[in-house]
Amino acid sequence: MIRVPGPRCQTPIHEGETATLPARVGMGEDRHRLTPGGPLRLGGIEIPHDQRLSGHSDADALLHAVTDALLGAAALGDIGELFPDTDAANRDRDSAEMLRVCRQRVVEGGFRIVNLDCTVLAERPRLSPYKEPMRQRIAEILAVAPSRVGLKAKTGEGTGCVGREEVIEARCVVLLARVGSGAGEPAGG
Ligand code: MG
Repeated sequence: MIRVPGPRCQTPIHEGETATLPARVGMGEDRHRLTPGGPLRLGGIEIPHDQRLSGHSDADALLHAVTDALLGAAALGDIGELFPDTDAANRDRDSAEMLRVCRQRVVEGGFRIVNLDCTVLAERPRLSPYKEPMRQRIAEILAVAPSRVGLKAKTGEGTGCVGREEVIEARCVVLLARVGSGAGEPAGG
């Protein structure tokens, strides 16, 4: 077999760094049940509401979707492997802290975040006033510019488990690129 080298496209990622394509894409999704009693913790912020999300950790479905997208892009497993719900240490655990740990692993693997795009689905409360604070918070946790974080909010249009206000769902797609030094690049990666 004859191997033909493809184009090695250099693109600026952060100040003083370039990354070599091909990049790595990852996706994550999550949902948690709503239960009476606020506030609602979502996207790393607290939102005034009469319901909150329930789960083993703090149940922040949006941060969990971002975490799984990062892990998926770097082929590092999933959030349940890193933070099993059978471990009492993860009870009520801060999802921002879990995301920081995953980001660190991704960075140590030689990757940098190019951008991410998130969608959160909630019938109530109306999330539009909170989109910008959530976007800023996610960027802060990931140590990237807010311009690299996209966030859309949708309702369930009264249908399905989102529309019945049983759950809030979140999805995220993330693009990673290797840093130019190739630090930590896995063989064959
Ligand atoms: Mg979750």
